[in-house]
Amino acid sequence: MIVKIIALAIQLNAILILSTSAQLIVDGKSEYTIYSSPAATETERYAAQELQQYLHEISGVQLPITQEPQPKTIYVGFQGAPKALSNGLTPTEFGKEEYIIREQNGALLIAGGEPRGTLYGTIGFLQDHLGCRWYSKDVITTPKQTTISIKGLNDRQAPAFEYREPWYREAYDTEFALHNRLNPSGVPLPMSKGGSFIMYPFVHTFNNLVPIEQYHEENPEYFALVDGVRTDKHFGGQLCLTNPDVLRIATETVMQWIKDHPEADVFSIDQNDGFGFCECEPCAAIDKSEGSQSGTVLHFVNQIADVVAKKHPDIQLQTLAYVYSEVPPKTMKPRPNVTIRMCHYDYCNAHAIGQCPDHQRFVTRLEGWSAITDSITIWDYYTDFRHYLIPYPNFESMINHPRFYAERNCTGLFAQGSNVRQQGGGEFSALRAWVFAQLMWNPHQDGWALVHEFVDAVYGPSAPYIRDYIALAHNAVKGEENLFRIFTDPTTMKFLTPEFIHASEALFIKAEAAAQNNPDLLKRVELAHLPIHYARLYFYTVGGTSYLSKEEMPKVLDSFMRITAEHKIKQLAERGGPTVIADFTQKVKEAPEFVTDWWIVGPFGNKDRIGFDHVYLPEQRFEPDRFFEGIDYELISWRPYKNERTGYIDFAALIQPNEEAVAYAYRRFDLEEAAEIEIGLGSNDGFKLWLNGNIILSKKTSRVAEPNQELITLPMRKGPNEVLIKIEQLGGGWGFYFTKR
Ligand SMILES: [Zn+2]
Ligand SMILES: [Zn+2]
Repeated sequence: MIVKIIALAIQLNAILILSTSAQLIVDGKSEYTIYSSPAATETERYAAQELQQYLHEISGVQLPITQEPQPKTIYVGFQGAPKALSNGLTPTEFGKEEYIIREQNGALLIAGGEPRGTLYGTIGFLQDHLGCRWYSKDVITTPKQTTISIKGLNDRQAPAFEYREPWYREAYDTEFALHNRLNPSGVPLPMSKGGSFIMYPFVHTFNNLVPIEQYHEENPEYFALVDGVRTDKHFGGQLCLTNPDVLRIATETVMQWIKDHPEADVFSIDQNDGFGFCECEPCAAIDKSEGSQSGTVLHFVNQIADVVAKKHPDIQLQTLAYVYSEVPPKTMKPRPNVTIRMCHYDYCNAHAIGQCPDHQRFVTRLEGWSAITDSITIWDYYTDFRHYLIPYPNFESMINHPRFYAERNCTGLFAQGSNVRQQGGGEFSALRAWVFAQLMWNPHQDGWALVHEFVDAVYGPSAPYIRDYIALAHNAVKGEENLFRIFTDPTTMKFLTPEFIHASEALFIKAEAAAQNNPDLLKRVELAHLPIHYARLYFYTVGGTSYLSKEEMPKVLDSFMRITAEHKIKQLAERGGPTVIADFTQKVKEAPEFVTDWWIVGPFGNKDRIGFDHVYLPEQRFEPDRFFEGIDYELISWRPYKNERTGYIDFAALIQPNEEAVAYAYRRFDLEEAAEIEIGLGSNDGFKLWLNGNIILSKKTSRVAEPNQELITLPMRKGPNEVLIKIEQLGGGWGFYFTKR
């Protein structure tokens, strides 16, 4: 069921001067008709119907749609409009989505370019001048008005970006996309409703151009030479871009695409995902002289572009500046018919470009590309791809980036948001879909005002608590030290403290209480609450009992499973953690007991990894009062430590210097009877484990620690037992998990 929330009082800026000559509706009555020319396109006819339907909802008046102009007429489309009204303007002077809304002598023109201008003008009239909002599939507002003036209207608009696609499930609802003037390639709008901006194929197309399964066996030289071997990887494997046969096959394929897909706005010649560029001599020579792998990419794409330009001068191609090709080339320039799809990949997401120095590398690269082309479209990233459901306070990026890109004349924005588009569920994904849609059309709006407008309209009586949560989260990530990126482990997100989680939980409990009498609202509030449930459960799996106690866990897990099922959320991550719900809930249910109180000492030297086998004094016996000689003759000694936050003993945070080092952890277990104790160990990086002075297990490895990477049985005796662990640091994280199974 569609719930329409009616805002009873709404302030409208545009229609203040009332005059009898240009009153569309007076006291619930109207003399106007809607004119739709016999020559109108299907989209323009649809625009006239939209206008009729929503004017009826707003005012209760049904204006007839006619093909006979009357003195008091709304002309939908340029066809048939009097010259005085159209002021000499013609559709050809308008961009594909550009429109004008103009009143003259009581007649109104709503018209624009082909194919979507007139339709978007109608939506612009309803939204900007009559206050309609399409916040989501379920929350639409049509403010009631019994008198509507159109006097003096003169509003010409075009979107800031020709391509606008936020990657959220909510944004792919056709009615939502249409009414928020998005033109997604992922789920295109039908041509009868104006169509979309179509990329063919969508992205990562090297394998579409020269399929590895078709050519690899006979012609391995078509594919990238990586570490001396021609790659046979389907994805992540790239092409040899200087091979003339590869160019020939790819060019033929592109020419065929152009023939087969007249609906496409742009054709993608994109490297596959990941690394794996070609290192053969001719490829390497170009990349070396251009100072970037974008050299071979552009060398290749430009040659195809030249062939295409001869036969199809209006066709545009695009190629990625991504991972290894993000740096612009030194001397080459993209051809005029080549768009660069630049990726803002793996930078700080807590702060927007301009708010912290982490983005400077990207800004420099974007400036470099801007110097050699005026056709740049942006692919930006707005979620944690390891944990789609984790609280992710990055509204500053959402709010500021569209304006930043528009000011640099970028032509499109793809905002890859929380969760795959089929299922939704990332934090505030409906809010993000709507705010992005607004800012992609006009990025000069006040983004925080849009956020608050959405929260108030969609969460009603629960809105104050949701606003407080948003403020709490965003205040918690101010400051450069709170940076997080798009592949982030929640244990490294500094703002996710137990205090933050408990304060957020309290706000959502109040928000849910305020929604008790409205089942639809309660569902929306519960979905907003989901990231806090997810965070608590995630921390529980790594020993974070201060986030969620054993007693509370079943209740939170039940809520989590119910909400994800109700909202058809199935996938939790792209990679790097449990990606499906069942694996995650299993992990929660089987979460072991973590041992988090240890004596620790370090660092001892590990230059050239000699520390791994060197017998330092702590290996001989546990002497809590003794001083040892650490790195750089530093005097160090045992100290007791207990992690209150999670089960992870984080040497990287506890011990300095945190490089080329080993450190020890010691603990006593007192048993009343001898027993075989099952334990789990996870380490970053290699480790040695002793029980009562006897080595139990030694493993030289380099890895990220996860609970229970090693399952070990410790034969403990009656009385005191001594466990000693040595962990080496090879770079990055450094620490261990110790569990009792
Ligand atoms: Zn090559
Ligand atoms: Zn930052």
